[in-house]
Amino acid sequence: MRAIVRAVTGAAHQLHSRRVSRALELDALERLPADRVPSIHFSAHLDDVILSEGATVARAAKSGRHQTPLVVTVATEAPPNRPLSKPARHFHREWKLSPEEVMGARLREERAATRRVGAHQVSLHQTDALYRDGYDTWPSLVGAAAPGDPQPARLRQQMEELEALFPDAVIHAPLGLVHVDHRIVSDAALSVFGGSGKLVLYEDLPYAAKDPAVSAARVRELSQRWRLVEVPQAPLSAREMRVKLRAIDEYASQVPQLFGSSAEMRAMISGHAQNGAARGGVERLWTVEERS
Ligand SMILES: [Zn+2]
Repeated sequence: MRAIVRAVTGAAHQLHSRRVSRALELDALERLPADRVPSIHFSAHLDDVILSEGATVARAAKSGRHQTPLVVTVATEAPPNRPLSKPARHFHREWKLSPEEVMGARLREERAATRRVGAHQVSLHQTDALYRDGYDTWPSLVGAAAPGDPQPARLRQQMEELEALFPDAVIHAPLGLVHVDHRIVSDAALSVFGGSGKLVLYEDLPYAAKDPAVSAARVRELSQRWRLVEVPQAPLSAREMRVKLRAIDEYASQVPQLFGSSAEMRAMISGHAQNGAARGGVERLWTVEERS
């Protein structure tokens, strides 16, 4: 718990000064009864879990009495007070948010969205690659972590501490498509939980919806080390899909940049889910086991 404490208290001053409050304070996390958290869903950025598996989280929230999944958002720190990279400035323009307001606004969206699917949300106060050393160019934001990036090690430690708090929770992490931060969260989760039998990888959207080949390539890559088995699932109900789409609409700064419009978002997310099942649609998930 110590690293989480340090991360949270260290960030609290900055966040406070920006008039931002957290959805779930550390104290509340420690008081949260472990048997009421069926699953922990790691999100590299302030939107990934809801975009990728929002309906799965909504389903987990309805899985039993007093069951509340926990969405853990990794990169929630405000940009540093220095000149930002070209990609960072580009995204701020696209999102119509200044460096001073970007994380506060995005955190509010994340909270509203996670509330809609019935989950708690907690932040790990790490920094988006857009604002970290070593990721100033577009190509550096794709693929493997930059040499010397301290984020992977910090994240593994936070994951271990969360596991100690919620030892029976199923762990969801991204398959790790395209974006370096997704890859870092995926690789950290594989390193900490890969052999535990409780890790589930979710397909990162919208990347897989825009280019279905990226999922197959990542599954092939991971299969050299792990045994990945796609989870057979009951098709999503109309309610589950409706809840997910409404939750995604909460990301007012992200939807125009990612999809163009809410209507295009709905068409892409629903269409991709339909491709994965004969009826009703699914969000693609894989279990992970050691290769024997
Ligand atoms: Zn992301």
